[in-house]
Amino acid sequence: MKRKPITEALKDGRILIADGAWGTALQARGLKGGECPELWNIEHPEKVLEIARSYIDAGSQLIETNTFGGNRYKLEHYGLEEKVSELNRKGAEISRIAAGEENWVIASIGPTGKMTVMGDVSEEDFYRVFKEQSMALAAGGADAVIVETMSAVDEAVAAVKAARENTSLEIICSFTFEPTVQGEFRTMMGVNPAEAARAAVNAGADIVGANCGKGYEGMTQIIEEIRSVLPEIPVIVQANAGLPELVDGISVFPATPEEMAGKNKPWIEAGVNIIGGCCGTTDKHIQAIRKAVEG
Ligand SMILES: [Zn+2]
Repeated sequence: MKRKPITEALKDGRILIADGAWGTALQARGLKGGECPELWNIEHPEKVLEIARSYIDAGSQLIETNTFGGNRYKLEHYGLEEKVSELNRKGAEISRIAAGEENWVIASIGPTGKMTVMGDVSEEDFYRVFKEQSMALAAGGADAVIVETMSAVDEAVAAVKAARENTSLEIICSFTFEPTVQGEFRTMMGVNPAEAARAAVNAGADIVGANCGKGYEGMTQIIEEIRSVLPEIPVIVQANAGLPELVDGISVFPATPEEMAGKNKPWIEAGVNIIGGCCGTTDKHIQAIRKAVEG
């Protein structure tokens, strides 16, 4: 069955399953520290396709693309700024092959690493950089973009607007929140879930939510806060596999697939519409989540 727009498909109240982490999956296939992950879209496309396929096989209905750091500012670090269009288009094409006709490609757009508060970039710079990236993702056959792991509202808003005004893709916008000592949630830039989500929707986002951050325990509260101001907008959550533990200097995410899948019920009660995973999650986690949600 050919897919409808994601927002249409969610209207009958079903929960859709997204994918898990890409970075660790690339490392497991040989990506070295200091190597540009997006370059693999042209140098090792078969390995990138293998990751995309592993998530489809595990039951993901929406899969991302290997383009999280595919903006011009990030690619400049590797001297690859002339390849922005090629790397992003290729990333979308690879995930499209794995997704086929019935599943969705939600193309990843991560932060630039720059901040307007530091005075090194303007909102216009953000817009220009995200316009370039989102147009290439659209050209590669993505269904949507997912602006993710955001902490600054102005950067997220620029990315959402750039995709809204220059492509016909659906737009998901996801922020990363950390708990404060008072037990509230804020992005690194001090924005709460309700404010962040409202700003994204005002800029043109169709779906909003949270990814990454401190494990999965706080996600219920974040969903409730978003729901309290935006009762009608679909919400996506992609949590990390628990709190990272440092083992031999490497972050290890301890939550097993079963453990994570067991955490979804309160999210569903709070009104989540799309569930996936972030750091430390694998195709096994996605498989367990899909099974739990369908049960
Ligand atoms: Zn993460």
